[in-house]
Amino acid sequence: MDIKALIARAEQDCAPVFKRLEENEMTCTRYVLDAFHEENVATRHFAPTTGYGYDDIGRDTLERIFARIFGAESAIVRPSIACGTAALSLCLFGLLLPGDHLLSATGAPYDTMETVIGTVGNAPGNLREMKVEYSQVEMCDDQQKIDVDAVLSAIRPNTKVVLIQRSRGYAWRASLLPREMEEMITAVHKVRPDIFVMVDNCYGMFTTENEPTHFGADVCVGSLIKNAGGGLAPTGAYLVGTARAIERIEARLTAPGIGREVGSYAASYQPFYQGLFMAPHTVAQAVKTSVLAARTFELLGMKTTPAFDAPRADIIQAIQMETPERLIAFCQGIQAASPIDASAVPEPWDMPGYTDQVIMAAGTFVSGATTELSADAPIRAPYTAYLQGGLTYVHGKIALISALEKMVKENSL
Ligand SMILES: *Cc1c(COP(=O)(O)O)cnc(C)c1O
Repeated sequence: MDIKALIARAEQDCAPVFKRLEENEMTCTRYVLDAFHEENVATRHFAPTTGYGYDDIGRDTLERIFARIFGAESAIVRPSIACGTAALSLCLFGLLLPGDHLLSATGAPYDTMETVIGTVGNAPGNLREMKVEYSQVEMCDDQQKIDVDAVLSAIRPNTKVVLIQRSRGYAWRASLLPREMEEMITAVHKVRPDIFVMVDNCYGMFTTENEPTHFGADVCVGSLIKNAGGGLAPTGAYLVGTARAIERIEARLTAPGIGREVGSYAASYQPFYQGLFMAPHTVAQAVKTSVLAARTFELLGMKTTPAFDAPRADIIQAIQMETPERLIAFCQGIQAASPIDASAVPEPWDMPGYTDQVIMAAGTFVSGATTELSADAPIRAPYTAYLQGGLTYVHGKIALISALEKMVKENSL
């Protein structure tokens, strides 16, 4: 097989899609820049703080910038929030009280949320132990849309939070564009303005020119080692939304009565600012990588989602590899092209909390950062690989070539 010719053909087909992505990058960069200007960002905002961190201008200004970008009233942006799951958990524990009901509008949530809610395992301190009720509504039209009527009829008198997961995560469903959430958000708020609509925005930020808060979501939550950190933020997460929601959440972040007033960071805030500035570009590079992979495997006659020219709401590309050998070769080829740990050979393993074996390819500067090129998959038919990230498109392309070469070498293409 002529891999070079295949990639060249795929790249040619992708040109109009890339042009759209560049336009989106321009729009997003523009509003990030506007927020920086409105907040008069200067070198002094990078200065580290210690102890309580009272009047930490780096922290407070970064939070105001996130609020502006999301068109929201308030934000929590902290290096001290360990990961996306921790931020989502913080949000739920902030908004829900014992006896309240949590409703997922997009079916089963991301794997790690199951242990937070208590639908999987029995982790001490989960929402079930806190006497929070939970139920979920499946998406309709072949997992393409939120079933608004079903959501409305699943609302109980004690429903406090409706959860939307923007990204497909690791399921074969559609990712949701922010504007596709509007109908449900408006309908829920019309009957029950007191309900918080919360969006798991992981993998989604900057793939579109608007965020779910622009369509009425009460809170958006995401990780800084995914899209929002631009590949530079070393750790942390964000929660952005209405003052009413953030006020409750910040009480859980530190303590009631103290909220966002405290919290220091003894290193520089510079990578958070620079990462946010870079993020629309990095996200565009990652999405271009996904689009190229989609087209390449489509040309090889394989099933992928989304289609290369479909609108994108997140950075993930799902590709059905059909055989375990092909899936493993693909992941090993991606790993071999990583800047870090390239000599590691990923193998399927029994990861805690997963029923099937899992294979993961990632050689990243920031440990576990999936804004950097990575691929993972459960070893389960139809052997779907989930590809995401890529700090530069050129690296994404090189890694794709490496993966194809490995697949050819293992006679799996
Ligand atoms: C990554 C992700 C999470 C969890 O984030 P971590 O930082 O890995 O804890 C939650 N939801 C979605 C949709 C994600 O993509």
